[in-house]
Formats: sequence, structure tokens, C-alpha cells
Amino acid sequence: MNRIAQIFETLDYGPAPESPDPALAWLDSHGRKFGHFIDGKWTKPGETFSSDNPATGESLAQVTNGTPEEVDKAVKAARAAFKSWSALSGYERGRYLYAIARAIQKHARLFAVLESLDNGKPIRESRDLDIPLVARHFYHHAGWAQHVAREFPGHVPYGVCGQIIPWNFPLLMLAWKIAPALAAGNTVILKPAEFTSLTALLFAEICERIGLPKGVVNIVTGMGETGQAIVAHEGIDKIAFTGSTEVGKAIRAATAGTGKGLSLELGGKSPYLVFEDADIDSAIEGLVDAIWFNQGQVCCAGSRLLIQESIEERFIAKLKKRMATLRVGDPLDKAIDIGALVAPVQVERIRDLMKRGVKEGALVYEPDGDPLPERGCFLRPALVTNVSPANTLVEEEIFGPVLVAMSFRTPEEAVALANNTRYGLAATIWSENINLALDIAPRIKAGVVWINGTNNFDAAVGFGGYKESGFGREGGREGMAVYLKPSWEKTLAAASSSAAPAKAGAQKSNPLDSDVLDQTAKMYIGGKQARPDSGYSRGVFAPDGKLIGEVGEGNRKDIRNAVEAARAALGWGTTAAHTRAQVLYFLAENLDYRRDEFARRIKAQTGKDGEAEVAASIERLFAFAAWADKYDGAVHNPPLRAVAAAMVEPIGVMAIVAPEEQPLLGSVALLAPALAMGNPIVLVPSQAAPLSITDLYQVLETSDVPSGVVNIVTGDAVTLAKTLAEHDGVDAMWFFGSPEASAMVEKASAGNVKQTWTSRSRAIDLFDKEKFEGDYWLAKATQIKNVWIPYGA
Ligand code: NAD
Repeated sequence: MNRIAQIFETLDYGPAPESPDPALAWLDSHGRKFGHFIDGKWTKPGETFSSDNPATGESLAQVTNGTPEEVDKAVKAARAAFKSWSALSGYERGRYLYAIARAIQKHARLFAVLESLDNGKPIRESRDLDIPLVARHFYHHAGWAQHVAREFPGHVPYGVCGQIIPWNFPLLMLAWKIAPALAAGNTVILKPAEFTSLTALLFAEICERIGLPKGVVNIVTGMGETGQAIVAHEGIDKIAFTGSTEVGKAIRAATAGTGKGLSLELGGKSPYLVFEDADIDSAIEGLVDAIWFNQGQVCCAGSRLLIQESIEERFIAKLKKRMATLRVGDPLDKAIDIGALVAPVQVERIRDLMKRGVKEGALVYEPDGDPLPERGCFLRPALVTNVSPANTLVEEEIFGPVLVAMSFRTPEEAVALANNTRYGLAATIWSENINLALDIAPRIKAGVVWINGTNNFDAAVGFGGYKESGFGREGGREGMAVYLKPSWEKTLAAASSSAAPAKAGAQKSNPLDSDVLDQTAKMYIGGKQARPDSGYSRGVFAPDGKLIGEVGEGNRKDIRNAVEAARAALGWGTTAAHTRAQVLYFLAENLDYRRDEFARRIKAQTGKDGEAEVAASIERLFAFAAWADKYDGAVHNPPLRAVAAAMVEPIGVMAIVAPEEQPLLGSVALLAPALAMGNPIVLVPSQAAPLSITDLYQVLETSDVPSGVVNIVTGDAVTLAKTLAEHDGVDAMWFFGSPEASAMVEKASAGNVKQTWTSRSRAIDLFDKEKFEGDYWLAKATQIKNVWIPYGA
């Protein structure tokens, strides 16, 4: 046979190499040695480490390991630049972002080749996906810069942002961080991952070339310790981190109590569900993209295949056949599917995890394929079967080309398996039945759901996680929101000492020496009155010290019961918003009937006239009843044949520790938005004056609030807050208290990456309708899930 006939026979690809020369020439032009980019200038290289090409193991360049002093210099430069950068008009800032987008497009190939050299990803991906998305991100955010003042009235940028990114999409993660931060008017210090600093340094040169004002973008390279120095720096107003859940938790703990803003984009173990009516060939192509794109080093990789039992055998057989055609090799070869993993340490980690999984019973299939390159960090695609949900390979994020397959029988089982993970980043659903797909999507706890597609990304569509995959979003309106705060919050003073928590609530006298023993209010758990597990009561005192009642002394066990009851009531979140609105209106109405009684109770506890507070509480319930069916999502129109429905969802079980002051409004102002958005609640009312809320359960009962939706535990606020903050069954927490106790709550919340809000004794006046009747609490009581749906295909 002649050669052409042979090619027809085998359909083999020839090599299609991309030249590394322009990228190497750029590195040469810097002497293959880099300092940092601080205040618009390049610093002298300090102590350096090597950035290697993982496909060959050869060193590409030496990169400086940033010291705390260098971080400090960068923070000072960013601070100095902030004033004038944030004062520019949106149009002016937008033009700079537009200039960056254009410059990236003009040098797209150089960026793509450099990225593939440094990271090991196939040039086909860096060229066709990473870099075009980077440009798209800067374009999109040039637009946000222009309209931010109009779209976010009353909001201002944080100030100086510290941004720390991983190595899997080096330039794309940089774009996801820098573009919204700059559009909002912040200045930044960004640290790329130690394995992949080079495109960030090329980006710095772009900033220089387009004349970005000095100090607006500072790139400081370095290891984890440099990241730690950024996190710890007192001059930084907000930290935005993308990386592993482990480091994300450490950053949560390190920033606790500092008042720094925080957004975390962490790991995942995303399910890929294939139902029996799926278009199997498409689902297999999707799966190739889901798990072998970027060698599986993708936070939202569809790494857990869940497949309906009736098609399992056929699907797996087809999948194995497809896997055998995947080509592993030189990332700069345009006909390669799977390139090099980022570093030897990553290959070792994956091999170790595989060994553990196999020991636990897993079976591993790897296609024979062509021989792997002799050097470099290459692994074959792997399919793991015969695993139980507890197998290491099912539970752990592998971050490599390893797919784990399990089967399910019913949609219910599919949802249960999909959600059986501490993560919640993304999910994919394949089914030709739109009813089924759109029934499953809302039941999956993940920030992104793709239907009959996978790994779709766009700058206009928010991306980010639920649960231990983090909080905050990148992209779209919600991505802008995390770089802005209300102007009043930025200038909020610490509370004056007179507003410091009262000591009331402490046992002042012999607990038996009381004439109000019949007044012992019970706690309220799962729709029933509950006695405290401790068997103790605590006194409630009038300002003159007279005992006016007693409440239960709640403890750890009461909190556990309350959280359990709240979790059983999670269905509140799927109750129609119209129904939730009616319940809140009814609650307001019933409170109105007992207006005088509640006012007297406030007076008895605080000595202050309670009428205004009751009136404000009723009005607040009305306000959030009104919001219940209006705080809606959006539909985005990304440049793909899909729409993305940005659905507003409740966060889950919320813990609320109310302020000491305003015994009724202090709780109602927080309860109302959380309830309106569908979150079941564990509420710890004012420690000093809890009787207004223990009275409220009678109103809750008569207002059709379902059992378990509001649970009330009385007692020592800080002790109860600690248990709540540590509890993995609590998804979000709002806490009013001292700076020290706020720090404790934030630190303890790291365990399951809860979303927290703390008062840190700031002078928050919940009477203020302007501030607190709008979306301030609504945004904190919700998270956005983007559901990608094929459209117009
Ligand atoms: P990593 O957490 O090890 O490192 C991320 C970055 O943090 C690096 O720049 C590193 O130098 C720095 N760092 C390390 N220790 C630090 C510390 N104590 N304080 C401050 N900074 C520190 O993660 P990685 O291995 O580079 O990246 C892989 C992880 O990133 C995966 O878990 C993946 O799922 C996640 N990821 C998430 C998203 C997302 O959007 N959710 C996107 C990409 C990657």
C-alpha cells in the first residue's frame, strides 16, 4: 500500500508541532530570570526558584520567591494607586481593561505557547480555550467598569485586593481575578502559583505596554509562604483565593476577625450523570471534555461518572473504546488530546491515591495506546470501577486524568449519590428528557449545572461553589458584587462602649429566689417547645435588676437537636416563593394583633418604650414578604448555543445569633430575609432580653411556619455560637457580638467553609430601613446556581 492509502486505513495523525521559539525568545529577552512587577516596575530578581516545562523537566526560567518585605512594597504601591484609580470614571477604567483585552488578543499565540510550555496543557486547549476566554473576560469587565456606578449604586470598591491563584489555568484564573477587581475600582497584588508564573509575568508586561497606571496591578511571584504573607498583610482589604480546599480553610482561619473581605473558589468532585435516555455518543464526547480536558486538573472536572444501571455496560464499553483513541504526548503537538501534568509531585500524588483506591477494591482500566513519552509528567487516562461511595477515589479530589464510575437505578438515587460529597462546585446531566433534566438540576447542590454539555464557561455567567467548594462567584453580576461593598459599611465605626453587650442574663441571684417561676420560657425546636438538655434555667432581668422571667440554658445538645430539626425542614427552600411570602405576611399580621403585649415585653426587658420596635418589626416582615417572590435570578446569553439560568437559591441551614439590643427587631430583621429566601433557621435571640423571641413562637405556630423552619435556642450567646460555627450541619451564620467572638466564629466556620457575616461590635442600626430592607441581607441569605441549558442549537 502506498502511504496515503495507509493513512486512510489507520486514520493516524501526523505530528503537528507548534514552535516554542517565540515564547523562548521572550524568556531570553528577560535573561530567563524574573523579579516581581511592583509599582509599574520590575524588581531585581531575589532568591529564585525554577519554573520547569513539565513535558521535558527542563527549566524555562528562574522566578523570584517573594518575601514579606516585597509583599509590603507591593501593598504600599497598590494603596498609593488606589486613590486615583478608584476616582477614574467608569469609562476611563473601562478603556484600560479594553486595552488589555485587545493586547491579549494581539499576542494570543505567544500567551498560548508560553502557557502550554509552563503548564503542560495541550496547545489546542490554551490556544482555543484559555486565551480566548481571558480576552473575553477583560472585554466583559471593560463593560462592567463602564456601568458599575449605575448598576451598583451606593457601592464602593474594597480598596487593595490580595489575589492568590492556582496553576491549572494560570492566565485564565488571573483574568477571573484581576478583571472584576479592576473594573470595580480596586487595585491588586496577585500571586501566581509557583509552578506557573510565566504568563502572569507576560501579562505584567502587557500592563506596562498599555500604560496601566503604576501600582494598579502588582504581580508578586513565590511559594505558599508568599501567599501567606499576602493573607496576613494588614494593608489588604480583601483576599480572593482560588486553590485547594485545604489552603482555603487555612486562609479562612488566618483572616478570621480581621474584617478583610474574602472569596474562596476551592476544590470539587463533580458528578457527571448519564440517564438511560441520554444521547450516548454525545455523553461520551462530553465526558472526554469533562475529565480529560487539561489532564483532569480542573476544579469542576466531571470526575464522578454516575450512570444509570440499564445502560452501564454499553456505556462503559463505548467509553473504553473512546479512551483508546485519546492521544497522550507533547503539549505543543496540535493533534494531542492529553498533555503533561503540571509537576512530578502531582504525578506522585495521583499514583498514591490510585494505590490507596486499588487497595480498597477499585479496578483500574487504562488503554494501551501509544507509548508514553520517555520523560516528562505523563499519565494515561484512567477509568476506575468497582468502587463503593467510601472509596478514596470516590471521595477525594484526584486532580488528574482519572474517572471514577458508579451506577444508579432511579433518579432519586442519582441525586443522593451526586450530593454525597463535601464539595459542590459543578454537575453535568445528560438526558434527552428535558423534564427529567430540569427536575434534577435544582436538586443538585452545586454552583454550576450543565445540561447536555459540560465545562462551558463565560465571563457573563457566574462560576463558584456550594459547600466546601467555597463562596463568592467569578464572572457576571455576582462576580462583580464580591469586589464591591456598600459605602456605609466601609465607614462603619465600631460600636460605642455604651452599646457594648449588657451583662444581663447572668445569674445575679439565687435561681430559686423568684416570684416568676411560672414564666420559664421553653426553647422551640422542630415545631415543639423544648426543655433545655442541661436542666438549667437562666434569669432574665429588668434594667433595675429585678428578675422578670427565666429561659432555658441551651447547650451543645440543644443546638444539635435544633440543627437536625432545621435540616429536616430544608424543603422550605423549595416551597413556592409566593407561599413563603404569605407565611411572612401572616406572621406580620399575627404579630400586629399582639402589638401591645410585645411592646410591654420590650419595655419590661429594656426599660425603653417598645412600640416603635414592634412597629418596625411588623414593617420588616412585610418588607421581606414582599421580597420573597421578587429577588429573582437572571438569564444569561453567553456566546455559545446555550442560555444560563442564574437561579437564586437559599444557602441551607442558617444560624443567627441576634444582637443584644432590640430584643424583637434584632431577631426579626435577620429572620425575615433568611426566611423569605427559603433558609431554615436556628436562632439564638438576645442573650440579655430573650423573652420577646420566646414569646414569638406562639406567633410562629399560628402563622403556618412549618415545623423546624424556625428553631429557637436560648442561653449564653457566645457558647452557643461556638457550637453553631463548628457544626457541619450549618451552612451559613450571621453573628452579632464582640470582635473577639466574631473572630472565634469565623475561625470555627472554616471546618465546612460556612459563609459567615459578623458584626465585630460595629454600630449596626437595624432600624435603618434604607440599609436593611433591601438586598443587603438577601444577598447574604442566597447563593446563585447557574444552570446551562442548550438553546437554539
Ligand atoms: P493550592 O491550594 O495548593 O495552591 C493555590 C495557591 O495558593 C498557590 O498560588 C499557592 O502558592 C498558594 N498557597 C499555598 N499555601 C498557601 C497558604 N498557606 N496561604 C496562602 N497561599 C497559599 O492549590 P493548587 O494545587 O495550586 O490548585 C489546585 C486546587 O485549586 C484544586 O483543589 C482545584 O480544585 C482548585 N481550583 C479551584 C477553582 C475554582 O474556581 N473553584 C479553579 C481552579 C482550581
